[in-house]
Amino acid sequence: MTDKDIATPKRTREILERFGFSFKKSLGQNFLIDTNILNRIVDAAEVTESTGVIEIGPGIGALTEQLAKRAHKVVAFEIDQRLIPILEETLSPYPHVEVINEDVLKADVKQVVSGRFKDGEDLAVVANLPYYVTTPILMKLLEENLPVRSIVVMVQKEVADRIAAGPGTKDYGSLSIAAQYYAHADTAFTVPKTVFVPQPNVDSAILRLTIRDKPPVEVEDEAFFFELVRASFAQRRKTLLNNMSRHFGEDLEKSEVEKVIQEAGIDPKRRGESLHMEEFAELSSRFSGRLAEK
Ligand code: SAM
Repeated sequence: MTDKDIATPKRTREILERFGFSFKKSLGQNFLIDTNILNRIVDAAEVTESTGVIEIGPGIGALTEQLAKRAHKVVAFEIDQRLIPILEETLSPYPHVEVINEDVLKADVKQVVSGRFKDGEDLAVVANLPYYVTTPILMKLLEENLPVRSIVVMVQKEVADRIAAGPGTKDYGSLSIAAQYYAHADTAFTVPKTVFVPQPNVDSAILRLTIRDKPPVEVEDEAFFFELVRASFAQRRKTLLNNMSRHFGEDLEKSEVEKVIQEAGIDPKRRGESLHMEEFAELSSRFSGRLAEK
């Protein structure tokens, strides 16, 4: 840390006051003011000189600066136009940082990545995400199959718990499976509220998604697989048989649904929350086969 780091309480306050910046809660603006935490995030993402980084929501540049000190290039998407002149000033010592004034959910991230980075380059997404859109942002990044090694992001602790959860736990659900289909998920560390201004109402954690070379299960029709997974958790307390009958009720009799589940080697009385991804994949292929026969 140096006196000049953006992420100190004093410098952050000075920047915000000088530019007359007021936080927009609706944009999930909670800025980091602790360089120690920032360095731990950059460490968790294993950013080195050969890494290219994609950041979402640079704010006034707290994390961007620490990334820029280690990475050879940083490209950051920021939705709030009021932050652009601030970033121009705070990040002026780092010419290898590019800020794009766009909503990441609307941006063609894949094209930006292919235009800015070389094929086969070591790439990572690192961000302190706006909490109101964490899931859509993560699902967009995962589903687009960006050529990144990992996604290391600050999220609400509860979301990190849900994403990293395994079968048989209360946090396990369709989000866990959706994320774990694309990546190995774990929580690198938890973060106290005191390192943000303004302080959020929720606890936070650093979620680390290490992108898989290929999904852990073979699925013919991904859309059907994810639809079935969501349907299995539609009513968490109900059995698989009940949730599946509700979902396929228009096409299959309850007895047929029961048979398909049994043929997949699964007890129809189990609940969705006890099923492993392999079992969901087996169910998905059996149901899709059975429906095709109709
Ligand atoms: N990285 C900064 C830090 O750690 O201090 C700020 C993090 S703050 C939690 C989230 C940032 O994301 C804000 O700067 C906010 O304006 C920006 N943001 C919110 N929604 C966005 C979106 N859809 N696309 C891009 N940036 C967004």
